[in-house]
Amino acid sequence: MKHRITLVPGDGIGPDVALSAKRCVEATGVSIQWDIKDAGSEQIEKYGTPLPDEVIESIKETKIALKGPIETPVGHGFRSVNVALRQILNLYACVRPCKTYPGVRSRYSNIDITIIRENTEDLYAGIELEKGKDATLKLIDFIEKHTDKKILKDSGISIKPISVHATQKIVQFAFDYAIKNKRKKVTAVHKANIMKFSDGLFLQTAKEVATKYTNIPFENRIVDNMCMQLVSKPELYDVLVLPNLYGDIISDLCAGLVGGLGVAPGANIGDGIAVFEATHGSAPKYKGLNKVNPTAMILSAVMMLRYIKENECAQKLENAVAVTIKENKFVTYDLKPEDKIKEAVGTKEMTDEIIRNIKHS
Ligand code: NAD
Repeated sequence: MKHRITLVPGDGIGPDVALSAKRCVEATGVSIQWDIKDAGSEQIEKYGTPLPDEVIESIKETKIALKGPIETPVGHGFRSVNVALRQILNLYACVRPCKTYPGVRSRYSNIDITIIRENTEDLYAGIELEKGKDATLKLIDFIEKHTDKKILKDSGISIKPISVHATQKIVQFAFDYAIKNKRKKVTAVHKANIMKFSDGLFLQTAKEVATKYTNIPFENRIVDNMCMQLVSKPELYDVLVLPNLYGDIISDLCAGLVGGLGVAPGANIGDGIAVFEATHGSAPKYKGLNKVNPTAMILSAVMMLRYIKENECAQKLENAVAVTIKENKFVTYDLKPEDKIKEAVGTKEMTDEIIRNIKHS
């Protein structure tokens, strides 16, 4: 069967890593008709926006996209194309597996943690009031009238909404993911001791959802303790479910545990629709240098192949990535030991090696 998939190369290092992933996917033999759509800073001049409508329309039609990173332009309409895409398409679950592949440069081994991050609300909802604006001052007055708290008049305000509805959806998603992927436990992460009505509601709702999944152990951790535990005993953790902001931060922390952003894939999933993308951003300083690691984007493509039920092709590609990293010969700078960085190869050459390993498997 031929799959139709939207490919958004993105900007910065996006086109380099997206092309690598496309080549690797095709080398597995899977049949894909790509609908290639441009988004990112270079589209602003032509379309007046980094996120042209045709990108959204294509993803709404194909229901699946493989997306390169996109820079967040400063001072233009969208806060972030990436956040906008997740909100417009209601991609409420961000899934970020952090798994050690032998051969990566890391202080840890045998880590296998999956982050399930709520994607639509919390401080990322984009509800912000600028210092000194009429609405901001009115809100400050309102808060002074209706609570016993004071906010300084020269404050900017960001709102942190957390709902029962979105929390139920993300926690159910985390448990369903745990069952489907034969995982051992789910840990909810929060700061409920301080933010009782937002994180407290997240925790209470998570506990209620957990009662319906008696086969999977459930526990919770306060986010600061979670950070400490993850760097001291990461092997104790399996599936983590978190509100948006903590999910973003802990994803990068866990990426660091398994070898860095170059090897951390991800997916943004809604009901019947999904966008696969690496955890890393557009790393503009490496744009066009054929330098960065394509692994995160290729492993995102592995997740995409599993999502479209091309499991054999997905396994072939994951094995080829694992062998390439383990042999550590044709790998990018971030995968080489400090004293062998000079022997690193570029994005394209590492991709060529992965494709050779697909063919030899
Ligand atoms: P970044 O992830 O782009 O880069 C941070 C550093 O991580 C790089 O300087 C590099 O040292 C390393 N790195 C990143 N990707 C790598 C790779 N594939 N191989 C090897 N090393 C890699 O983070 P940033 O510099 O904070 O963000 C740059 C831009 O990307 C910003 O505009 C940001 O908003 C955007 N961004 C986009 C996404 C997305 O598209 N989903 C995600 C995060 C950040």
